[in-house]
Amino acid sequence: MEVRNLTLRQAAELLRDGAVTSVELCRAYLERIAEVEPSVQALLSLDRESVLEQAKASDERRASGKALGPYDGIPVTIKDNIAAKGYPCTCASKILRDFVSPYDATVTGKLKAAGFVLMGRANMDEFAMGSSCENSAYQKTRNPLNTDCVPGGSSGGSAAAVAAGETVIALGSDTGGSIRQPAAFCGIVGVKPTYGRVSRFGLVAFASSLDQIGPMSKSVYDAAAMLDVICGADPKDTTSLPAPVPEGGFAKDLEEFEKAPTLKGLRIGIPKEYFNVEGISDGVKKVCADARAKLEKLGAEFVDISLPHTKYAMACYYIIAPAEASANLARFDGIRYGYRSPNATDLLSTYLDSRGEGFGPEVVRRIMLGTYVLSSGYYDAYYVRAQKVRTLIRRDFTEAFKQCDVIFTPVTPATAFRFGEKSDPMQMYLSDVFTTALNLAGTCGISVPAGMDENTKMPVGIQLIAPDLAEDRMFRTARAFELERGIN
Ligand code: GLN
Repeated sequence: MEVRNLTLRQAAELLRDGAVTSVELCRAYLERIAEVEPSVQALLSLDRESVLEQAKASDERRASGKALGPYDGIPVTIKDNIAAKGYPCTCASKILRDFVSPYDATVTGKLKAAGFVLMGRANMDEFAMGSSCENSAYQKTRNPLNTDCVPGGSSGGSAAAVAAGETVIALGSDTGGSIRQPAAFCGIVGVKPTYGRVSRFGLVAFASSLDQIGPMSKSVYDAAAMLDVICGADPKDTTSLPAPVPEGGFAKDLEEFEKAPTLKGLRIGIPKEYFNVEGISDGVKKVCADARAKLEKLGAEFVDISLPHTKYAMACYYIIAPAEASANLARFDGIRYGYRSPNATDLLSTYLDSRGEGFGPEVVRRIMLGTYVLSSGYYDAYYVRAQKVRTLIRRDFTEAFKQCDVIFTPVTPATAFRFGEKSDPMQMYLSDVFTTALNLAGTCGISVPAGMDENTKMPVGIQLIAPDLAEDRMFRTARAFELERGIN
């Protein structure tokens, strides 16, 4: 069976029609993994036996008319910072090398309740800090479209696994762009849901006021269907919201929309600040111009808008995210979790040596930055000021959404770069210039493949941003665009 380009929607149909069993499907993926993993290296761990056991159990449920839903028996790959009971959860860090989750994240529980087969743990930048997967303590995931290039990050393993056809769909996490940027680099769809839409219980926290879990998939419909599965309020995450979804869910809403897909009456805002950025490549500009023409053809009307505080988003993000990270990562002390230095002789050296040896250089850099901006004397100058700027950034979006329904931007200034190309951390940070503002504001955004950069021959993604909890509008716009590109 050829599974390479199979979508969630197609897999569900095949299983429903009895054209394939879950065991057959999962075997085909395991073969595909064996074929491409030596070059792609997307997975940190894979328990083949458990995959086949889960598949067998799914087939038995289906045979007795007790399937848990349309997706029962379909493989899903999870980023290695989302807990699944009995599986490793290393966050691609040496400090969690031998850590096995004692419980399921809420999203993992929801996947299981829907019958999904958990297949593999995806590589990432250590503790989700990075934009290329080069910060993983274990391996370098390669971009399946050109193995000389990075897959993006931090959810690069999830993106590469989907793009290489090693899995049907994956989950990633997005704190400043970590779902959308690798999705764009690998030519797949990635969604950062509205803050609060998805429970983060069981996601290893990076920056708690920014983190969201979201789908990474081969199509917009698949992403919508996955969001249906994982969204919802959760008493275990007090930031999760009891937010409404369209009747029947996001995927059902798209099925209705597909009957007559038009964007007539939709106002799409183009923020001038996002297209005048230094370093935005000609290839990206050209694909964005083509995408705009396609959206106009669908009936959308483009309006010029301004998000004036965007220029402060990077600086603001790189104060707030490290500040929160320094607090969140304090728990990795060599006592309660994971690695303990064999060189430690007393309590203090246990902390210092375990952390010093267990964390990689980027994580250390963030902890130091975060501790500095929170320290007395600098707290007001950096942290408090960044919080004020954050309010202004959020206000920009609120104002902009008075003039338009959806905002259109590139996802990244350029396509996937080569390994080692961004050895200066500042250069690496700048690959997120279009994505971080969204996390600071809390709204939702999707990265949709829009075509190839004619110079680099690598994929370009466009970002469609919608107001808080308007994922349905975001999905409809993205789906119409996808159909216009001739993608079913
Ligand atoms: N690349 C950004 C960073 O390094 C965003 C990471 C993320 O979204 N997890 O912080």
